[in-house]
Amino acid sequence: MNSPLYTNILIVGAGPAGLMLAVCLKRLGIDFKIIDKRIPGQLYGQADGIQPRTIELWESLGIAGELLNRGTRVCRSALFVPDEANKNVQLIADGPNVALPEARYPFEILAPVQLIEGIMRDTLTSQGVIIEQPMEPVSVRVIEKEKSPLIEIRLAPVVNQHGDTDIQEIHNTSETIITAKYVIGCDGARSWVRKAMGIEMKGDETIFEWGVMDFTPVTNLPTFRAKTVIQSPLAPFIGYLPRPNRTARIYTLLGRTGSNIIMKSEEGAETSDLIVKATKVGFLPYTMEYQDISWASIYRVKQMIATQYSAQDCVFLVGDACHVHSPLGGQGANVSMADAYNLGWKLAAVLKGQAEASLLKTYEDERRPIALDLLSLDKEIFKCFDSELHFDGLALGGVYMGNAPFLSGLGITYNSSLIKSGNEDLAPGLKLGYRFPSAEILRHCDWNAVHTHDLIQYDGNFKLILLPGDIQNPEVESALIELLFEMDNSELRGHLKVLRDFKTIFRVPRTASLPAFGHSSWLYENCYVDENEAQELHGIYALADVSPYKGVAVLVRPDGYVCTLMPISTETVSLTKAYFDTL
Ligand SMILES: Cc1cc2nc3c(=O)[nH]c(=O)nc-3n(C[C@H](O)[C@H](O)[C@H](O)COP(=O)(O)OP(=O)(O)OC[C@H]3O[C@@H](n4cnc5c(N)ncnc54)[C@H](O)[C@@H]3O)c2cc1C
Repeated sequence: MNSPLYTNILIVGAGPAGLMLAVCLKRLGIDFKIIDKRIPGQLYGQADGIQPRTIELWESLGIAGELLNRGTRVCRSALFVPDEANKNVQLIADGPNVALPEARYPFEILAPVQLIEGIMRDTLTSQGVIIEQPMEPVSVRVIEKEKSPLIEIRLAPVVNQHGDTDIQEIHNTSETIITAKYVIGCDGARSWVRKAMGIEMKGDETIFEWGVMDFTPVTNLPTFRAKTVIQSPLAPFIGYLPRPNRTARIYTLLGRTGSNIIMKSEEGAETSDLIVKATKVGFLPYTMEYQDISWASIYRVKQMIATQYSAQDCVFLVGDACHVHSPLGGQGANVSMADAYNLGWKLAAVLKGQAEASLLKTYEDERRPIALDLLSLDKEIFKCFDSELHFDGLALGGVYMGNAPFLSGLGITYNSSLIKSGNEDLAPGLKLGYRFPSAEILRHCDWNAVHTHDLIQYDGNFKLILLPGDIQNPEVESALIELLFEMDNSELRGHLKVLRDFKTIFRVPRTASLPAFGHSSWLYENCYVDENEAQELHGIYALADVSPYKGVAVLVRPDGYVCTLMPISTETVSLTKAYFDTL
């Protein structure tokens, strides 16, 4: 047996959640190890829909380019229902897939899981990270917890996997012992880590059997490159999604557990045959040929959540390890990656001594309510289906439309001890706990068009964004000068360095000349202008509803969420200090 290896963090599982956490930690300079029980190259998950907020998260990590270039942008969505004669289908609703003005990327991206995971794997490989696989934990023991946690984990290579079952042979002789401060279970719905820590999943199993299939469509369906839901008089539910290279994925309802309405007469048939047979007539009067079927599967849906997201303050669960639901909302991988994004900067802040370990408790406080909301939404979606496999297309469309902000990920709002209320009147359009709005701005010194989100990259730092208003107004100018004076006279260590690296967005035209501020904290390259028309809800001042004569100072978390609002005055410094005192 080898002698123990030490690492700050052991990530168990390299699916979307584990890879995302690894990308986040690497970017923040945190040492970790990541293992997976899969044989390298073996496919596992099936996620393919990436939501607008996830694209933003990837952008802030510097990895969105390839996804945007190679994925399919799904900009349009359509709903077909039975025609008057109840023989064929007719288009009843047609519109943008993401009709949210706040979206920087107003579309979903469909990409095979190989591409999604591949981009993150390639990023890690280029940074020298090795995913150790096939490797799995065989025991875990918390030696110390609280202030300086220490966990011992024994790992063993998986030497034989039989299909996709759990039967494996382990070479006990080549066990590796690792000691780590934190262990993160990103090991999917059957999480070994969760079971080892005695954490339960609570919830239900639904009654339906779903079919899913990837293929190349040959069709005259007019919306064949749009996200399309079809309620046909001749077929069960059809959910159709365009994928790269003119391919597509189809979801359908195949049966009810126990009765297997459709499958019963088809025992022994290939999964793909069942799906083709169930759905083919559902497109009429349009035709659909299913060519080059590359994958087909039948699955049941559980709607469950872990009773807790952590154990002994040093073992955490992320992704499907702590919540499972149907893929109908295209959420699982997105929510899993958002979990990782939330936990990543917190782990880094604690390990770097910038925050107390109690910061980690806010991971569950913030992410578990999101999963609970997701389970409620999943149940609402399922209410559109009855036990005879019929579904109400208009009702389903209504659920999707009504929950668009949540489904896109843009509407996620956090409400934990990290969000401090006060001064909301200075920016009624800025919601506390909500992501900082996305808007186009112009860098004043060179007129380069940039984006507000370009100012809040995932680097582990809080950001102070000043919106002082119209600097040509003498009162606005003197309030800013007083603030700069106070900054220059303050000792700025740790998080307070945020007061050095602040960005300023003025409400003036690009040609306005800025005063010659003679302060050490002042950098003209960090000055931007918002010259959007006030009546158009595109500019940051209009979106945030900030008066150009009063202004506001916004403290933004490392993950881009607004945590507190302050006036532009000498008070900004003391309020910022007070905020970090509580961290
Ligand atoms: C048909 C289908 C379509 C879907 N479509 C979408 C979609 O469009 N959008 C979306 O967001 N989500 C979708 N999902 C859901 C999505 O696939 C999951 O939510 C997502 O994969 C969860 O990511 P994860 O990393 O938490 O877990 P997983 O993807 O399950 O990854 C877990 C990883 O841990 C490894 N592992 C497991 N046990 C161990 C162990 N003991 N030791 C070491 N490693 C271990 C596994 O090998 C795997 O690599 C879909 C799911 C299905 C079934």
